[in-house]
Amino acid sequence: MKNIITFLGILSLEAIIMDGKIRVTVWNEFLHEKRSEEIAEIYPEGMHRAIADYLKTRDDIETRTATLEEPQHGLTDDVLKNTDVLIWWGHIAHDRVSDEVVEKIYQRVMRDGMGLIVLHSAHFSKIFKRLMGTSCSLRWREDGQKERLWVVSPGHPIARGLGDYFEVEQTEMYGEYFDIPRPDELVFISWFKGGEVFRSGCCFYRGRGKIFYFRPGHETYPIYHDETVLRVIENAVRWAAPTERPSTLTILKAAHVKPLEDIT
Ligand code: ZN
Repeated sequence: MKNIITFLGILSLEAIIMDGKIRVTVWNEFLHEKRSEEIAEIYPEGMHRAIADYLKTRDDIETRTATLEEPQHGLTDDVLKNTDVLIWWGHIAHDRVSDEVVEKIYQRVMRDGMGLIVLHSAHFSKIFKRLMGTSCSLRWREDGQKERLWVVSPGHPIARGLGDYFEVEQTEMYGEYFDIPRPDELVFISWFKGGEVFRSGCCFYRGRGKIFYFRPGHETYPIYHDETVLRVIENAVRWAAPTERPSTLTILKAAHVKPLEDIT
């Protein structure tokens, strides 16, 4: 009987996971698109809008966007509280992101289990460096050559619907060594025409949160219009979304407890 109850308990817990839509906030520094005509032509309303417009077509996902120059970078307490997965793109203004907002994102990931998807040049963002605890530096070259991303964890939820590999025709090169802690799961390794390789799809579990670093996304190429790249981001949203947790996991302070069994 006890086994049946336990089994039903697991079932009901599973059933409440993903109850309702996954609430995604796509955050973009949104400066390149305002400063460069060439980039504005690719992303007239910003990279965040391209990603959000794609995700919006999915029934189980609802999206909003936020950008650097909005008050509190568009990430008020209310927005963060109503975000299950935050997507982050930044490049030239990491230092303009307020430490206070970074701390709130950090707590929301660690304590509440908000998912975080870190894109491309956001490897140097304050929030990613804070969560990794390393320099997050890498080698790079802007040469407009091809990238081939090999799926090295077939069966991983983030690789759902992909073949053995996919390609981005024109991009910037990122090469190893990428100074991150060893990923908990590695989904993609990139090959570049110049001979370099790079860990381009890395999963990390931090506190109650899940973090995915995904490399593609250099601003001068239409990478966030690529169906496969967008598909990976969609898969990552579902993977990173928090699962409902039993209240017994909410241990806010140490508690002295009596033994469950007689140990005298
Ligand atoms: Zn770049």
